[in-house]
Amino acid sequence: MNLEFRTGIGYDSHRLAEGRKLILGGVEIPFEKGLAGHSDADIVLHALTDALLGAAALGDIGEHFPPSEDRWRDADSRLFLEHARSLLQADGYEIVNADIVVLIQRPKLLPYRDQIRRNIASALGIEADRVGLKAKTAEGVGPVGAEQTAEAHAVATICREVQPR
Ligand code: MG
Repeated sequence: MNLEFRTGIGYDSHRLAEGRKLILGGVEIPFEKGLAGHSDADIVLHALTDALLGAAALGDIGEHFPPSEDRWRDADSRLFLEHARSLLQADGYEIVNADIVVLIQRPKLLPYRDQIRRNIASALGIEADRVGLKAKTAEGVGPVGAEQTAEAHAVATICREVQPR
């Protein structure tokens, strides 16, 4: 048997708005604004879900969880991530690692970083040392810098055993 490795990329962005909770990587972070969206608008979990689906060429989050469907309103995005994990498992994949970059002007995420990493690792059934998370500001430039939006980028690597070609 050979091991086949695959890597996927994911990206997400939501608007920052008053009266919304800021939930990143499944962790609620105290802040005066939160991310607006149909679900809980967790850009970290959305980008990561797309990276995992992309690695296996299984489509994207919008296809699996259409925002037009009312049942996903304010949904906990951990559901999306766990669904991606189960699709990968069904195809014989294991998750090797994931790495995430969050672009947000405020607040500082460092105090929450390890909690977010552990939360993601638990949703994926992997060790926390397989999940990387970095946060950057936009140095005040553009819509991220103006605190109008926040973005997340993710890559994930998966592997499975295959017959030699
Ligand atoms: Mg999204």
